[in-house]
Amino acid sequence: EQINHALMAFVMLLMKVAPFGIFCLVTARFGEAAAEGELMAMMQQTGWYMMTVLTGLGIHALITLPALLWFFTRRNPYRFVLQMSRAILTAFSTASSSATLPVTMECAEEAGVSERSTDFVLPLGATINMDGTALYEAAAAIFIAQVVGMDMSVMQQVTIALTATLAAVGAAGIPEAGLVTMLIVLNAVGLPVEYVALILSVDWLLDRFRTAVNAFGDACGAAIIDTTFPDAAKATIEEA
Ligand code: ASP
Repeated sequence: EQINHALMAFVMLLMKVAPFGIFCLVTARFGEAAAEGELMAMMQQTGWYMMTVLTGLGIHALITLPALLWFFTRRNPYRFVLQMSRAILTAFSTASSSATLPVTMECAEEAGVSERSTDFVLPLGATINMDGTALYEAAAAIFIAQVVGMDMSVMQQVTIALTATLAAVGAAGIPEAGLVTMLIVLNAVGLPVEYVALILSVDWLLDRFRTAVNAFGDACGAAIIDTTFPDAAKATIEEA
């Protein structure tokens, strides 16, 4: 218990100095770029990076997940998006899958997913299943590699895909957790971790989008698993 208290005190201390540390990291990176006359180019790169992540998340949320949902459950996927809209908006505004969990469970049950499935899948999904985070971590690592000018081999890209998926599993369902586990991905392929400063400035916004995708992905998972429960499957199809 005492070790726990000591650790908590240490974490609280880190939380207090974190904003200052992040400020230093970001200003140092942008200051260097400004001194080299590359500030505009860097802003442009960051803009493209944001566009890439948002497009990827959009494709995943509006095409891949709906296709999987339709294939396994024969539900109307876009109606399901509407039914889950309260959870998606809560995830967007809190940037935390864990904080959104009660709303996700409520919406999924209202959408006709059985209580058995929501109770089993959603709490697990809120911490383990993070599609949005995995997608973002892979895109961010490749973006950093391109900024650094590192030519990635196919093996390195596969390593990024694998470690990004595992790092997303390890990330907690709290704001900016993906940014921390991304250091694992950067280390795995030998990318300089200080370049995380490049994406720090826009992470607060991307975090909201990826959390919304994470919560929707969990709900799709619960609906799909629901069809594997024999008696629940019937109810689901009737409701849908
Ligand atoms: N904020 C995300 C979530 O709670 C995790 C992350 O990607 O930072 O799902």
